[in-house]
Amino acid sequence: MTPGGTTTRTEYRTCHLCEATCGLELHLEGRDITLVRGDRDDVFSHGFLCPKGTALKQLEADPDRIRRPLVRRGDTFHEVSWDEAFEEIDAGLAPIRDQYGPDALAIYLGNPSAHNLAGLVYNRALLQAARTRNVYSASTVDQMPKQVSAGLMFGGGLTIPVPDVDRTDYLLMLGANPYASNGSLMTAPDLPGRLRALRARGGKLVVVDPRRTKTAEEADEHLPIRPATDALFLFALVHVLFADDLVDLGDVAAHVSGLEEVRRLAASFSPDAVAPACGIDAAVIRRVAHELVAAPTAAVYGRIGTCTQEFGTLASWLVDVVNVCTGNLDRPGGAMFTRAATSVGSNNAAGRGRGVTFGRRTSRVRGLPEFFGELPVVCLAEEIEAPGDGRVRALVTIAGNPAVSTPNSDQLRRALASLDFMVSLDIYVNETTRHANVILPPEPELARGHYDLALYNLAIRNVANYSPPLLELEPGEVPEWRSMLRLAGVIGGQGAHADVDVLDDLVLSGLVAKAVARPGSNVEGRDPDELLKALATRRGPERILDLMLRTGPYGDGFGADPDGLSLAVLEASPHGIDLGPLQPRIPEVLRTPTGMIELAPEACVADVERLRSVLDRPSARDGGPLVLVGRRDLRSNNSWMHNLQVLVKGKVRCTVHVHPDDAARLGLHDGADTRVRSSSGEIVLPAEVTDAVMPGVVSIPHGWGHDAAGTRMTTAARHAGANSNVLARTDLFDPLSGNAVLSGIPVELAAV
Ligand code: SF4
Repeated sequence: MTPGGTTTRTEYRTCHLCEATCGLELHLEGRDITLVRGDRDDVFSHGFLCPKGTALKQLEADPDRIRRPLVRRGDTFHEVSWDEAFEEIDAGLAPIRDQYGPDALAIYLGNPSAHNLAGLVYNRALLQAARTRNVYSASTVDQMPKQVSAGLMFGGGLTIPVPDVDRTDYLLMLGANPYASNGSLMTAPDLPGRLRALRARGGKLVVVDPRRTKTAEEADEHLPIRPATDALFLFALVHVLFADDLVDLGDVAAHVSGLEEVRRLAASFSPDAVAPACGIDAAVIRRVAHELVAAPTAAVYGRIGTCTQEFGTLASWLVDVVNVCTGNLDRPGGAMFTRAATSVGSNNAAGRGRGVTFGRRTSRVRGLPEFFGELPVVCLAEEIEAPGDGRVRALVTIAGNPAVSTPNSDQLRRALASLDFMVSLDIYVNETTRHANVILPPEPELARGHYDLALYNLAIRNVANYSPPLLELEPGEVPEWRSMLRLAGVIGGQGAHADVDVLDDLVLSGLVAKAVARPGSNVEGRDPDELLKALATRRGPERILDLMLRTGPYGDGFGADPDGLSLAVLEASPHGIDLGPLQPRIPEVLRTPTGMIELAPEACVADVERLRSVLDRPSARDGGPLVLVGRRDLRSNNSWMHNLQVLVKGKVRCTVHVHPDDAARLGLHDGADTRVRSSSGEIVLPAEVTDAVMPGVVSIPHGWGHDAAGTRMTTAARHAGANSNVLARTDLFDPLSGNAVLSGIPVELAAV
């Protein structure tokens, strides 16, 4: 009991703010968080947390957060009831759908959707109701190349091997800075601690990055590389492996096809050939290749810098080519596949599937192909602006801020202002949602259950952890899953008062039908009604999560394995359940049509010629342009955590890093306003002269630029910074994945 008479209680919850899934210990007084600290008993994070995790307290209490639905009249938002909000949405969307068809509506899913149980469960229902080709997400901003390369090589877009960090002896890391971001497409709480442990047990960490990041500083070796040349460097490693007869596929040898094609392709990418372009000495490349083979176990990991570039898919592919060729794919200490508690097999025999097909639909204006059901976000602005049949006239955004986070942001901002109608599900009136006609807020985070449905698929251990709601809903608060299904009902033509419970039952019965029909499932052939009855005590995302857990690889199969997992078992385990270290999964995990690891996918092979053409590209020192790369910050998460004073206080972090040689040549001074210009736009921000960037490279963090009129993010506006994505071009993208190019953009700098 506190002096004020309220009771303090301690609760446990997985942090939903980034991919690391840290366990939090929360002290609550009534509805208020009084303390956040790491949960020392969490089976995965063991007490680790970062400053963003502690900011959950400020995030939940942020006075700028939207608590009730808002409708915009002119430039002003007004609070309305939920019924009024949905009536407004129906009145806005229905005529557009009726007159122009389903493609006139676009949907954009932001990054936080991937951390949200309701979103992951019901996004599909929303997309199915919309039947639009115009689906976009943050995936084509920063991760689609890895999904594409994994799809081509292993048969599934999330069949992505992750480094077995806790057991490896050698980790080669490209374009990643886990000391700031804690890992991405690799779920690993306290990744810095795990990297320190790797080194403490005698292992080696080598970081390849144009910047001397905190991770690079803590590594055994930092290899500065010219931006967007990672694929050349990786190809040269492969070249050495073949040239020096070091290729050994290990236990996966019988499951690999295309090895000779890779040998042929790598022949012309010798270390001597790529060294001038990469800026890494040929002898160093040879040594690293030999070290990878000599280490008892090793893994190569590439992340954001290898994805957000013009050769993103080639670089992502070559990361795993090196893992295969050094015998490190699918073995302890190498790069392995997670077996998540909610993963399901395909309907095909284990080890073989349909693989991936891209381009089943194309964008209207440029004819760019879809990838995993979504169009590249570099198309979104033109799909809104270009006149003609099929033009996008309405937009739904879910937890996204594309006006800041996508290329040529100024163009997209103009396009958003021209829409006929827009709906956003969001917690803020931000640079994007200020254009919305209606904004629907989610319930408080602590009033919803949480399970990292997506991220546990990429965890470096097999784990499962469910966080139940800690607060009751207050009058006027509506769970986001109900808003999503009601919105799906409106979009699907059922009107403003669509029956959410009927829609929820439909989603569930569809999933149950699939589970009992799936060959090899632990409920194969069972009566669907029996399963539905067993699930009947729950509703919403928890009911579907329970189904997924019970029919998953560790599940109780609704009685088939009494010791198996269910949501009830997780509810009784507030610190999570450790399902053990990663185990070899090849060939069972493969879903390629051949049942093989496709080491030389046709699309990658065809793109190699384009890569070869940049071998002679001049660097800034040789008369080429300065090039821009991004950077991450421990206290920032894309664009949406800048409204919390506790995270933005202190030194200004939205600066342009410039090497002292370049600063001297251009007359730039530390702290002085500097104009950065690309062919798509320009921004002004302070220079920070530092040798942490290579000569010829400048670096700006993304997600800033909170100076737009009409937003309601008071703190962010005081720390506005400049939006680096104004400099990114919509005509510059990785053709194999449609991913935006944010790294390696030619820019000019000048003192203001
Ligand atoms: S590292 Fe990520 S998951 Fe962990 S506390 Fe920080 S924001 Fe939360």
